[in-house]
Amino acid sequence: TGTLYLVPTPIGNLGDMTIRAIEILKTVDLIAAEDTRHTQMLLNHFEIKTKTISFHEHNTQMRIPELLAKLANGETIAQVSDAGMPSISDPGKELVRAAIDAGVPVVPLPGANAATTALIASGLPPQPFLFYGFLPRKAGEKNRELEKLAHESATLLFYESPHRVGKTLAAMQTAFGDRQAALARELTKKFETFIRGSLSALQTYAAGDLKGEFVIMVEGAADKPAVDVTVPLKMQVEAIVATG
Ligand code: SAM
Repeated sequence: TGTLYLVPTPIGNLGDMTIRAIEILKTVDLIAAEDTRHTQMLLNHFEIKTKTISFHEHNTQMRIPELLAKLANGETIAQVSDAGMPSISDPGKELVRAAIDAGVPVVPLPGANAATTALIASGLPPQPFLFYGFLPRKAGEKNRELEKLAHESATLLFYESPHRVGKTLAAMQTAFGDRQAALARELTKKFETFIRGSLSALQTYAAGDLKGEFVIMVEGAADKPAVDVTVPLKMQVEAIVATG
């Protein structure tokens, strides 16, 4: 059988393409791309001449048997999305599952990813972290998801489109209270910016007409105060009552 390679591509800065990613894209038989025209620009830049085929959320079910047949035939395929890691809020996971089920080796390459890049400069605790991806767009569903996350103590990471950042920050403040948070904007690009502060402070920033790409990060729920056995119980109860 062939091999399925999962190849990350830059999230803005072409310099973040790895040497190994270029080598793999040059040597595979076929590149399965979320948007072939978008990927072609990247391939042209790195003088990669490999054929492409579209693989996106609307043709996943049709393409999987076709790609599996090629893999079974000994061909090598690289899967890429428009930016960053395939499968991370992007097409890919169904093909990975199908390849595993068919006994095809799956080889992931490390590389660009917006969430972890944002996290390491956020100033928030980097682990544990919970990568959520995109929240539902509808307010009701979004609020329900945020309610479910309200007691999560891990740092929370979200992707969001620029015109929803303000509303989402407000919904987060309602669900979580005014926690510390950070916005990472336009990572790896010319106007890369980090905005760090409380959810209410970030809303002031997000009040204008936002442009660019954003990762939203929010600190996790504070742990419940630990019961200290060295302090008499009555004083502990009073302390808990006092701090809520
Ligand atoms: N597969 C990608 C990855 O590994 O990060 C994510 C793709 S998802 C469709 C696109 C979202 O990722 C954007 O809406 C934004 O939230 C985030 N994102 C992608 N590139 C970014 C960048 N350069 N700066 C900040 N956020 C970015």
